[in-house]
Amino acid sequence: MSSMSGMRKEEASRTAFEEAKHYLPGGVNSPVRAFKSVGLTPIYVDHAKGSQIYDIDGNSFIDYVCSWGPLIMGHAHPEVIAAIQETASKGTSFGAPTLIETEMAKLVCERVPSIDVVRMVNSGTEATMSAIRLARGFTGRGKIVKFEGSYHGHADSLLIKAGSGVATLGLPDSPGVPESVATNTITVPYNDLESVKMAFERFGEEIACVIVEPIAGNMGVVPPLPGFLQGLRDITTRYGSLLIFDEVMTGFRVNIHSAQGLFGVTPDLTCLGKVIGGGLPVGAYGGKREIMEQVAPSGPIYQAGTLSGNPLAMVAGYTTLKLLTPAVYDQLEERAARLAAGFEKNAKELGIPMTLNRVGSMVCPFFTEGPVVNYDTAKASDLQRFIKYFANLVEEGVSVAPSQFEGMFVSAAHSIRDIDATIEANYNALKKL
Ligand code: PLP
Repeated sequence: MSSMSGMRKEEASRTAFEEAKHYLPGGVNSPVRAFKSVGLTPIYVDHAKGSQIYDIDGNSFIDYVCSWGPLIMGHAHPEVIAAIQETASKGTSFGAPTLIETEMAKLVCERVPSIDVVRMVNSGTEATMSAIRLARGFTGRGKIVKFEGSYHGHADSLLIKAGSGVATLGLPDSPGVPESVATNTITVPYNDLESVKMAFERFGEEIACVIVEPIAGNMGVVPPLPGFLQGLRDITTRYGSLLIFDEVMTGFRVNIHSAQGLFGVTPDLTCLGKVIGGGLPVGAYGGKREIMEQVAPSGPIYQAGTLSGNPLAMVAGYTTLKLLTPAVYDQLEERAARLAAGFEKNAKELGIPMTLNRVGSMVCPFFTEGPVVNYDTAKASDLQRFIKYFANLVEEGVSVAPSQFEGMFVSAAHSIRDIDATIEANYNALKKL
C-alpha cells in the first residue's frame, strides 16, 4: 500500500472472507492465511508482480511472504510464466514420463551433491513423510528424532511439537494424531546436541533417523549454532541412523547448493519443496543411491503420486533454478543484509528490544532481547507487540507473514527502493507501537 499509508481499504476482502467461511474451514485452505492470530481481515490477492501484491480492494503491498518461500525470483517472473504457458499448451499432466522430469532431476542432483537420485512429489509434506518412511524401511527401525518448534509438514509422525502455524494458533500437538504414532517421535530442543546424545544413549538402536531443518524456519529464523549440524552427522553415523535435512524452505534459498552447501554438512536424505516448484505444487526427496533405490519400483518401499513430476510444476521449478545464478544469490545477500541492518538501526533508535536473525534472504526480527537459538527463546518474544507491529506494517503497505514464528523472504525482485521503503515502513510501524 506504498501509495496509501494508513488507509487500507478492506471491504471487498472482508466480504470475500465471510463468503469463504461458509464453504472452507475457517474460510481458507491453509490456516495461517486466515490472519486469525493477528485478528485482521486477510489480504485477498487479486494479482502480483515482482515484489508487489495487489489485493481485491485496490491496495498494494511490498510482499515478503513470497507464497511462503517459493517465489525467490519474485511474483509472476516473465520467464517462469512463459515456460508454464508454453508447457500448458501441450497438456497439463499425463501420468507418463516426460523429458522435463529427467532434466529437473539432473539439475537438482548436480546442484545438491548429496543427492544421487531424487523422487518428485507434490508438496513438502509428502517429501518429509516419504523420507521418514524410507528411513524406517531402510533401517528397519521405528523411532524418529525431530526438534521442538520445527515444522516438517503435517504428516502424523511429524506433527509433534511443530512450530509455525501450529505455534501461531497456540495449539498443542494436533488432535487426531494417534498416541501410538506420537510415541515414536522423540522431540529435543533445537541446537542442543547434549539432548540429542541423551536420546541416542537411551533409544539409539531404535532410531531410524534425525530430521532437521538445517536453518530452522518455522520458529522464526534460527540458524544452527557452530558444530550443531556436524554433531548430528556424527551421532547418526555412530548409531547407524539416517540424517535427513528438511530443506523444503532452505533448499536453493540460502545457497545454490542449499543449506548443506552453506554449512558443509552432508545428510543421507534431503527434502525439498517451495523454490523447486517455482510457485507450483512440488516437493522432492533424494539422497544416496543405495538408500533411494529402496523406493518403488526399484525397491520395496512404496510411494507414488498421480500428479508427481507433472510438467507444469517441473518446468516452473526448472526455469526458476536456471535463473538462480551465483550473481542472484549475491544480490539476495546484499539486499537482505541491507534490510536487516535497517531494521536493527530502527529498533535501536526507538529503544525497542529486538533480535534480528538472518541467513541469506531469510530474515526475522524477534521482539526479544535474545539471543534466539531455539523454540523456547523464540517464544520469549513479545507476541502482543508482534500483533500490533504486524497491523501497523500492513497499514504501511508491507506484507509479512502474520506470525512471529515465520521469517521474511527477500526475493530477487526486491529493489533497493523496495528495501529502503520497507525499512521506513518498519520504522513507522515500530514507532506506533
Ligand atoms: N518442511 C518445512 C521446513 C516447511 O517449511 C514446510 C512448509 O512450510 C514443509 C516442510 C511442508 O511443506 P508443504 O506446505 O509444501 O506441505
